[in-house]
Amino acid sequence: MEERDWWHRERQEAAEQYLPHNVCGKGHRRSLALETAEGGCICLPCFAALLSDPRSPSHHVSYALFQLSRAISDPYVLRELRGKHAYFIVSPLVSALSVFDDEALARQVIDLVSDLCFRRDNGGLGEVDERSASSLLSGDFIARIADWLAGTQAWSRRQIRMLHCFGVLLSSFNGTSPAAHIREQAALFSNLFVGLQLPSEELRGEVLFVIYKLCSSNVTPWDDLDSDIDNGIDSLDAGATTLVRLTLEILLRTQYDEVRMNCLALLLILVGKGFQSSFLNSYHNLVLEEASKQKEEITQQTPLINLFADAIKGPLLSSDEEIQIRTLDLIFYMLSPGNCSLKQILVLVKEDIPDYIFEVLRLSANKEPIVMSCIRALTLFTTVEEAFNQKLVLGLPTLLSILHYTSQLPLHPAQPQALNLVCNCVSSFPGIMSTSQVEDLALILTSILKRCINGEYPETFLLACSTFVEILKSPSSSGIQKIGELVQEASRGSTNIL
Ligand SMILES: [Zn+2]
Repeated sequence: MEERDWWHRERQEAAEQYLPHNVCGKGHRRSLALETAEGGCICLPCFAALLSDPRSPSHHVSYALFQLSRAISDPYVLRELRGKHAYFIVSPLVSALSVFDDEALARQVIDLVSDLCFRRDNGGLGEVDERSASSLLSGDFIARIADWLAGTQAWSRRQIRMLHCFGVLLSSFNGTSPAAHIREQAALFSNLFVGLQLPSEELRGEVLFVIYKLCSSNVTPWDDLDSDIDNGIDSLDAGATTLVRLTLEILLRTQYDEVRMNCLALLLILVGKGFQSSFLNSYHNLVLEEASKQKEEITQQTPLINLFADAIKGPLLSSDEEIQIRTLDLIFYMLSPGNCSLKQILVLVKEDIPDYIFEVLRLSANKEPIVMSCIRALTLFTTVEEAFNQKLVLGLPTLLSILHYTSQLPLHPAQPQALNLVCNCVSSFPGIMSTSQVEDLALILTSILKRCINGEYPETFLLACSTFVEILKSPSSSGIQKIGELVQEASRGSTNIL
């Protein structure tokens, strides 16, 4: 037995022997009180009553929360609370989040809940026992908050705090799955979907984060098909499609990078689960006009792929690189073979998405992750060659600059794809390049071919040769004096390889 444990037991025994059986003014039993290391005493039923009563003065509540926070820095007290007295703390702490309309108090409650659930008790229990006690308590909090959110009738600022606490618990939960603690998944999601449509940006951000956490832990009504045998597949499609639509609508409207990040994280999870096909074939009501007199909206059924195209433009031009990369990743996964039709890719081309990607590439300052993400996303548009080639012409100066950058580095992974895009453009529009562009490209290709002697991707060698042939066909090449020299130099390199 640890020294602290011994000390506590001694104190408890002394208290039971010499002090009155009921020490609290309300007559609660002493066994329901928590002895603190400083010699104080926290009566848990009184603590619970104080936190659950909306008439309690907030400075009293704050003081009680402070005392409990301080008390649990003692591992013995923390273990006692987790093991024996969880009943007295879970419900009152959750109530406090909804009862008091006080931001500072809510922060105090959330910090205390997080500490109670996830604070290490420094080896008093074995790691397995401590983990189990922690996941049991956090499971109780998750269950209580999920019930509260599932049953809520109207949204207000208090739900934002509740959602924030829920997000903190879901993020650190270390049990098998939070699913076991969430009883009313359908009602919870139905309410969360309502929250997604409310005008508060902050609320929507919190809801998105919670849904993201639930989806990544497979806690969604549509992940559990057995629970909805009659219309399992329908509800799967409808639930996920509604969620994707609502998320895209938020992504389209928001100017906040934090909300964008939550939207993108959630969309990437949903695409990873294969929900893109159901939503890509769906429609949404586009509000064209609001006739003020009749107060009727004139709407048009528009494919969701158009909403997707509109929604990703803002994030692509965000000043936050992480958001740009996530958006490019989303485009890549959406357009990957088998995930969407040529018709849908064509919609994105008509909506100028390749132009946006070229702009990201142009402003990338050759930063590796952005260059990689842009080039691999652009490559997928080559499946709609005819429409995309028009865009390639506009992006050619940027592509040449990227190709020049990749040619200076050995085995740059984006080089074959960048070269392929340039080759496609030059072969489709032989007259498009200016004399100086042809000269620049010939120099780049020569340096790539020279590098091929020392080992490059075989694909790079073949593409460089094909592109060289294409530029020789270009009318601009005849005006370049040293083109013959470059051809000779490039051929020497090529012959060595052959
Ligand atoms: Zn009491």
